[in-house]
Amino acid sequence: MRLRPHHLLCMLTFVGEGYNPAFVANYRRLAGRLSAGETIEIVSGPDDICAPLLADEAAHCFGVSVAGRDAAALADIAGLLGREVEIGTAIASDPALFEKMRQAFSAGVTRRACTGCEWSSLCDRIAGEDYADALVMKISRPETEPETSARLRA
Ligand code: SF4
Repeated sequence: MRLRPHHLLCMLTFVGEGYNPAFVANYRRLAGRLSAGETIEIVSGPDDICAPLLADEAAHCFGVSVAGRDAAALADIAGLLGREVEIGTAIASDPALFEKMRQAFSAGVTRRACTGCEWSSLCDRIAGEDYADALVMKISRPETEPETSARLRA
């Protein structure tokens, strides 16, 4: 799967919201593939998540500010993983990777790319709820109060 760097962060908090139904449907398919362990290839510019928006030549995916998000995310993720991450790098998608990235995201270690993003408050909320509703590589937590959890999902 081709992902631009800052979408490695956006995937952490994806709960099924997005710009339009086609965008969300595509994103859901990609979320399923990532959860199944598909390898990520880091790319420059518009990626597989952007795809449904690219018929519009003015799509923000082509913009300079989004490229800035990518640069910040690339540097922060490379620092977090302690390895070189650049365009063309392949990253194995597994639960440990997502756990590590979610912990860093919650701690604010990798949030530079989020500066000024319109979805930031949503992503803050998802992180604050310990990614309970996130659709990619869900983290299973021990349920200490099963009755309460069942009520909340009803
Ligand atoms: S705040 Fe924006 S850039 Fe950051 S993870 Fe959320 S959607 Fe992605």
